[in-house]
Amino acid sequence: MVDVNALRGLPAVDALISSSGGQALAAEYGREAAVDALRRTLTITRERLRKGEDASIEQAALLDAAADDLRLLFQPSLRPVINATGVIVHTNLGRAPLSEAAQRAVLDAAAQYGTLEFDLESGKRGSRLRHASDLLAQVTGAEAGLVVNNNAAALVLLLTALARGREVVISRGQLVEIGGGFRVPEVMEQSGAKLAEVGATNRTRPTDYERAITEQTAMLMRAHASNFKQIGFTETVSLEEMAEIAHRHHLLLVDDLGSGALLDTVPFGLEHEPTAQESIAAGADLVAFSGDKLLGGPQAGLIVGKKALIDTLKGHPLARALRADKLCLAALSATLDHYRKGEALTKIPVWRMISRPLADIRAEAEAWAAQVGGTVIEGESAVGGGSLPGETLPTALLALDVEHADEFAARLRRADSPVIARIAGGRALFDPRTVLPGQGETLIRVLKMCLTMP
Ligand SMILES: *Cc1c(COP(=O)(O)O)cnc(C)c1O
Repeated sequence: MVDVNALRGLPAVDALISSSGGQALAAEYGREAAVDALRRTLTITRERLRKGEDASIEQAALLDAAADDLRLLFQPSLRPVINATGVIVHTNLGRAPLSEAAQRAVLDAAAQYGTLEFDLESGKRGSRLRHASDLLAQVTGAEAGLVVNNNAAALVLLLTALARGREVVISRGQLVEIGGGFRVPEVMEQSGAKLAEVGATNRTRPTDYERAITEQTAMLMRAHASNFKQIGFTETVSLEEMAEIAHRHHLLLVDDLGSGALLDTVPFGLEHEPTAQESIAAGADLVAFSGDKLLGGPQAGLIVGKKALIDTLKGHPLARALRADKLCLAALSATLDHYRKGEALTKIPVWRMISRPLADIRAEAEAWAAQVGGTVIEGESAVGGGSLPGETLPTALLALDVEHADEFAARLRRADSPVIARIAGGRALFDPRTVLPGQGETLIRVLKMCLTMP
């Protein structure tokens, strides 16, 4: 039955917006948006009452409903989440979280004027390319370094500047798709370089490279097979051998390392991920890698190698289009400083997670179980981010037996602090390894809330 009295009793928009609650909404979201939200709330309430449904006509309830509406409307689409998946460099969740020093550096660079293109000594214009470049060269043992927007940009820049209209010899086993549909060969073609594919998918020998070299050849290239693994009847040519062949023919050797670790992964029970230092030492003229994979810094493309080549890249018009911004340069410099000080393992989140002792992880999972129930089981974390495919780190997981695991996971994602869990065997799994220090309490609150939802 329609409650006519209730309908008549609904306050007017004007009354709501001029109330103190309405004024507070206007102050937070702007008057226009607040009025719109109150109108929507009144329309919905009116419809409910017409249908004979329950709906409050109290001013406080209406203002609350409008506030919820506005909160959703203004919720940014790029939001923090709690990563309980155990995938450390999670591409879809933003790859590497920054160290505290890198976060502070971003804040300083963002909030204040700085020496981005200014030389304090001379008082004249300086170069933004100076920042992080020297540090980068120092920690990798290269002559020089250059920072651009990401590793894909690094490849486009170096191929355009050094191989446009000429041939780049690359093994068929290294024509990698790096995710999101982006393929190394297609990125290369954009630069105007011609691919000369050699070898077979599973085997490439030194003679394959030798035979492919013509007057048109500009460089030999290696692309690290970062996200897949070949086993069985395989053969690859080492970077040292490639360097010998390239240099004997007066050609360049370029190494696309992909992730590009600066520290060895072997002490953590993982396979060896090639490091930038090794590529330089093996004789690569230029090495390109990402800033936000195993390096543990901001999104960036890092190029290190011979100074004359880096200078050519710096002077190319594309360098301007692909350049890194000041926030990136600030975060990257702070991240590289951790390596320079020998404190990367304890300060850089990605490496802290890789090196975190299992006993520590188990203790945290057990503490969670004590608060929300469930059991602690053995499991595996992954490095992710297109590095160390198939390699895992032993971990301890909180396992929750829930009725409909997929629905439960969706509920976790919709929480005010979204939690991303892993679903396996009908259970929701939570890996403490990738839950950042200080996020545990929020995780428990969200779990309790979602477990008690009807
Ligand atoms: C990840 C990756 C890239 C692309 O790096 P971005 O920094 O994401 O642009 C290129 N090559 C390889 C081998 C990679 O693994």
